[in-house]
Amino acid sequence: MSFIVKNTTLLNPLDLIAPHSCRGCGAIGSALCDCCKNNIIANRKAIKLKSTGRNFPSAFVVDHRSKLIGTLIHDYKYNSVRALATPLAKLLGQTIPAIDGQVVIVPLPTISKHIRERGFDHTLLIAKKFTRLRGKNYKVKKVLLRNKNTIQVGANKSSRIKQAEMAYIKNNKISIDKNTTYILFDDVWTTGASMKSAVKKLREAGAKKIIVALLAMS
Ligand SMILES: [Zn+2]
Repeated sequence: MSFIVKNTTLLNPLDLIAPHSCRGCGAIGSALCDCCKNNIIANRKAIKLKSTGRNFPSAFVVDHRSKLIGTLIHDYKYNSVRALATPLAKLLGQTIPAIDGQVVIVPLPTISKHIRERGFDHTLLIAKKFTRLRGKNYKVKKVLLRNKNTIQVGANKSSRIKQAEMAYIKNNKISIDKNTTYILFDDVWTTGASMKSAVKKLREAGAKKIIVALLAMS
């Protein structure tokens, strides 16, 4: 058996001792103990997303990235600690209010290269766990896909916004229902360009009820 550890990967030393030790307090048993999970919910402050502009949907954010949630996301994504998918989905469940009727969670599509590097699709996995916690009226659908025809147009701010606007396309295999609530889900809000672009695409496709869910705000 061999392990391939890329030199870009920051290993959490706790992983070498006990893969399932709590990222908050070090207790052995799970990647996030119930106590630390409940502390995140109990101690967080209200979060307002920056520069959303007018007509942006209601947004629900678990916590600030500088807090424990930031460590959890990092370990989950870059150290492939998949055991964190369930606690992260539970945190999301304690953040998004109950919704009546049909609900579709739409993970913002991950770049395929990143899925290959990490060995799993991090937002899709949390979305699936979240729907399982919620019940039968919740489904995950890949309503948005990455636009493979995007061209690299540079790294300044206006180029990045332009790139984000072209990042997604609507999946033609999935039809939009105006009575369904769509939850657009991503891990971290940084500039918000990706999420704004996703909201726009979903609206253009005919979605009337949209909410936004994020694990953290930068
Ligand atoms: Zn703990």
